[in-house]
Amino acid sequence: MGYAPQAQIDHDALRHNLQRVRDTAPDSRVWSVIKADAYGHGVERVATALQESDGFAVARLDEGLKLRKAAFKQPILIMGGCYTSDEWVQAVRNEFDVVVHQERQVTLLESLPLDTGSINVWLKVETGMHRLGIPSEHLTDLADRLTAHPRVRRINLMTHLANADDRSDSFTYSQIARFESHKTDRFTHGSIANSAGVLGFQATHRDWVRPGIMLYGVSPFSDTSAEELGLRPVMTFRSRVIAVQQCRRDDPVGYGGTYNCPQDMPIAVVAVGYGDGYPRHAEEGTPVLVAGRRLPLVGRVSMDMITVDARDYPEVQAGDSVVLWGRGLPVEEVAKSAGTIGYELLCSVTSRVEFLDLNRRDTKGI
Ligand SMILES: *Cc1c(COP(=O)(O)O)cnc(C)c1O
Repeated sequence: MGYAPQAQIDHDALRHNLQRVRDTAPDSRVWSVIKADAYGHGVERVATALQESDGFAVARLDEGLKLRKAAFKQPILIMGGCYTSDEWVQAVRNEFDVVVHQERQVTLLESLPLDTGSINVWLKVETGMHRLGIPSEHLTDLADRLTAHPRVRRINLMTHLANADDRSDSFTYSQIARFESHKTDRFTHGSIANSAGVLGFQATHRDWVRPGIMLYGVSPFSDTSAEELGLRPVMTFRSRVIAVQQCRRDDPVGYGGTYNCPQDMPIAVVAVGYGDGYPRHAEEGTPVLVAGRRLPLVGRVSMDMITVDARDYPEVQAGDSVVLWGRGLPVEEVAKSAGTIGYELLCSVTSRVEFLDLNRRDTKGI
């Protein structure tokens, strides 16, 4: 690799993590969640690696259309549902599975003269998150209207968990109980679990699970690492040392001089910055893996560079390989030091960064 940052995407790790889902929820079908460009990993490569999934779930219609255009034939779940007539027309034409979470969406569907195609509908019931969801008292009425619609094939029931990342929080059980109170024969399939549900709450598994973050090898829990959960990191965000400064005691480093060297010391300058998606809010001490050694970030993150305290690795030199996160350095740790979550860091890698596929089995080019 050159001296510019790279995001390596390990297809073996993707397949391994999908197998972890299968092993953990053996009786459930799997919607692999690949919204937001597959959590920043690149949706086509991820869908290719995960083509054994029972289906793909995305947030928005456009994301589903992109998959169909790329010739993916799997079922595709549009989790946000349709908001315009045109979106409904496209959803029906492409045989999507569509979430319905408010009455407006049903009314819009009923108003359209659709004479071909079909959809499966997933009624999303409000069970405690109060974000998207149909209040329970309206559920039967909407299910009746959808049953009467000629283009609707199956009606399923789903909900979304608010607090499942905390396994000690009983709120998840109250959400499961509310979901359960609506589960009747009229709904063909049920779905509750995100990654935290898959790994933390067996009672959420149902007919379909909807794992996202665990597929990318990241733990949904703050108290358990991905490694402990048997997950393998998919993205390794790498770069190189491009310069080494031999600083003197009291030398300020970087913009604003926010770091002052406590002694004579080497500062390694690494080619990555917020222009590549490295978080500008990463605090002093954020771990950076330089030639396999964990060293602390110091000074402000710039657009193209970061600076690292290399006292524990005085032999550091330009060209040394650096891991910002991924193999050997969980993104969860970096996220914690930047006041965010792994999800956000993975989604934030910018288009300036070169993406490289590892262990790709198919030959299809991206
Ligand atoms: C994003 C999302 C998921 C996946 O969540 P993870 O925490 O990444 O596993 C599942 N269901 C819905 C409705 C989502 O929006």
